[in-house]
Amino acid sequence: MGDTLKKSNNVEKFDIILVGYGIAARCLLREFAKSDYFSKKKILVVYNDDVFPPCSLNTTSIVCRSGVQKGISDLGDFIFDSYEEAISFYESHPECHEQGLQHSLTDQSPKGREDFIRRFGHCDSLNTLGDLSLSESFEGVSFKAYFIDPSKCLSALEQAYIEKLDVTIKKLTCREVLKKEGHLQLDCGCESFVTNKVIIASGAYSKFFQNNLKQESLTKSKFVSGSYIVFDDCDFGNKSFVLANRHYNLIYRRRSRQIMIGGSTVKEDLLCASVSELKSQYNFFRDLLKGDLVLPAFESGTIKTGLRHKGQKRRPFFGELEKGPFGNIYSMTGLYKNGFTFPFLGAKAISKLIQE
Ligand SMILES: Cc1cc2nc3c(=O)[nH]c(=O)nc-3n(C[C@H](O)[C@H](O)[C@H](O)COP(=O)(O)OP(=O)(O)OC[C@H]3O[C@@H](n4cnc5c(N)ncnc54)[C@H](O)[C@@H]3O)c2cc1C
Repeated sequence: MGDTLKKSNNVEKFDIILVGYGIAARCLLREFAKSDYFSKKKILVVYNDDVFPPCSLNTTSIVCRSGVQKGISDLGDFIFDSYEEAISFYESHPECHEQGLQHSLTDQSPKGREDFIRRFGHCDSLNTLGDLSLSESFEGVSFKAYFIDPSKCLSALEQAYIEKLDVTIKKLTCREVLKKEGHLQLDCGCESFVTNKVIIASGAYSKFFQNNLKQESLTKSKFVSGSYIVFDDCDFGNKSFVLANRHYNLIYRRRSRQIMIGGSTVKEDLLCASVSELKSQYNFFRDLLKGDLVLPAFESGTIKTGLRHKGQKRRPFFGELEKGPFGNIYSMTGLYKNGFTFPFLGAKAISKLIQE
């Protein structure tokens, strides 16, 4: 009855509805813009960054292949291929990135050092960080890295489709995706929309949909928050660099003159950062670089936290969640630590699936 009433009240119909407007959704729209099939479709994007802070803007956003090779695991292959796909976009959009080196330090323990050398095949003596000379060298391996500016990257992606697609972008909270007879209904409180194709691209918050969309990619996935501390107005030379110590980094971004410390698995409770863990990471780098690079006082930094979506066995999910008389529900989730590479390849997979 309620449904009939809403329909008679002209509930707007779209061919495709996307929930989310972070890097996942934008890579999808960019991919759609390459095909005539989507140019004739009426697309709706629903997002609410005030209620669901996007990880895509609370991130350290480094793209580095870190020596990953093809042919070892399916995840490694995916990391490799999506890196190649992503950098072809970044290379043609110099406004949204700068380049530098990532120096990964060997583990301090003898066993850790052995594993490191087995993994990378060698380790070198590192004497410089960007264009700073170090008084004491470190052991590690250096890789090419792209330092992505997340807001500029999101804008560059948007430019690739905004004129080419019939896309309406609405700031609304999606409460539920309802499976009805013959269609799907997106309940956004004061407004509802109908469609036969919904794509969930809502990052970690995708888990909130698991009550009515039962699929392992959602039920077996996790929220994993990550925090970092940012120091502004830093001048550590004319070259950006990353110093990576196991799961956490010190990043210097020359363009924005920022130092960021942290970035990986820190024990937090959703959006509340563990200051003590960040402080111990800060102390590690402060002691390591003593004299060569003097860090600003910890208290002068700003702590930021992003909510990542970790898929089952760290695998992303790009595919169909459900299919029925109501239509199809797809998702592009589980980007975890690879949000600036995975969706470039994932978008191709979903675009192909929809066109089949
Ligand atoms: C500290 C940290 C460091 C990181 N470093 C890197 C790195 O160096 N390199 C890298 O590649 N990746 C990194 N990542 C991971 C990367 O940032 C994320 O994987 C990526 O940004 C996720 O993008 P997304 O589009 O899936 O989700 P998000 O950016 O979180 O977007 C989710 C969108 O969904 C919307 N939304 C959610 N629920 C609803 C709802 N119910 N109704 C309406 N809208 C909704 C939100 O408003 C938002 O627009 C890092 C992450 C963190 C936290």
